[in-house]
Amino acid sequence: MSQTFGVYGGRYVPETLIPALDELESAWASLRDDDSFRAELHHLLTTYAGRPTPLTRVERFAPDQRMYLKREDLMHTGAHKINNAVGQAVIAQRLGKKRIIAETGAGQHGVATATVCARFGLECIVYMGSEDMRRQAPNVERMGLLGAEVRPVEFGTRTLKEATSEAIRDWIANVDTTYYLIGSCVGPAPYPEIVRELQRVIGHEAREQILQVEGRLPETVVACVGGGSNAIGMFYDFVPDEDVRLIGVEAAGAASLGTGRPGVLHGARSSLLADEDGQIMDAHSISAGLDYPGVGPEHAYLRDTGRAEYVPCTDDEALAAFHRLCETEGIVPALESSHALARALDCGDELVVVCLSGRGDKDLAEVLNYKPGSQVEPGLGVST
Ligand SMILES: *Cc1c(COP(=O)(O)O)cnc(C)c1O
Repeated sequence: MSQTFGVYGGRYVPETLIPALDELESAWASLRDDDSFRAELHHLLTTYAGRPTPLTRVERFAPDQRMYLKREDLMHTGAHKINNAVGQAVIAQRLGKKRIIAETGAGQHGVATATVCARFGLECIVYMGSEDMRRQAPNVERMGLLGAEVRPVEFGTRTLKEATSEAIRDWIANVDTTYYLIGSCVGPAPYPEIVRELQRVIGHEAREQILQVEGRLPETVVACVGGGSNAIGMFYDFVPDEDVRLIGVEAAGAASLGTGRPGVLHGARSSLLADEDGQIMDAHSISAGLDYPGVGPEHAYLRDTGRAEYVPCTDDEALAAFHRLCETEGIVPALESSHALARALDCGDELVVVCLSGRGDKDLAEVLNYKPGSQVEPGLGVST
């Protein structure tokens, strides 16, 4: 039973992958409520990855609001991505798969995957476009130190799109021994649901924490949206709280939900940046993690049903929020998260919780080289 979210989601994959997706789906159906799985995950998240993360009030950053940040920047490897990587590594182990493949654009998901593979003693192969490898050399080095093999992909634009195609090709050839560790709430069913459930801990903790400190729910919850995993993780436990506004912030040059159209990419139907013929268009953002032409299918569903709103943020606006958080709070945010910070400041609501999806150490070169109002060159887009 491949799940859909309204008309979105599903499985648009070659026939050879259906048995692997069926296997994953039935394993997931028994694991998701299994006490020993839950206990193992909880143990790893608390003793290895850094959960729970605090909720920090930012009075100097947002003097006219009661704004709180959910501090995923404090997680091991610097972002929320480790929540998902740890969870899927445990699933892979339970499935008896000892070989892990992943694709990466900016390298953040590759590093999270290489990290958990080192921790579990699993073979790790990361596909990465050769152009991305050149631009993200420190992350390539880091994956090497962690024992992963980074395989360059030399065709097309030599970026994430081609790396994904290559990872899928590997999976088709080695499906019996290999687990494909997808880094956001995208891809064929059941991946979007699995990634949501593994990231849901963000909003679950944040909801309890805000009730404890403020005695009420926030008016607004804000998160940035690339593939959509930190946002869906942050939003999900607030979905039944109908009075809480859910705002997803996309890079203005990668607004798959704001300006996209329905289509199929990487195994699922969702909302995409595509032309009238369905050809995928390049996305542009200063933040590598938001620079992706697709988005998880559940966000397209939340948009269509009106439960969540999706708004754009420009590079300049994100940069301004980045500097403001550095200078007023002593926190260096990821450029991705800075998009959420910018829109949270001007949402007009008082009690606001923002998902600070990651820290900005990785972005310093980008920030220091940035010229306000400059346009990112076409074809330089990378992601996750
Ligand atoms: C990868 C990344 C994102 C974008 O991915 P989502 O799946 O949309 O969460 C956002 N923030 C940071 C810090 C990232 O590393």
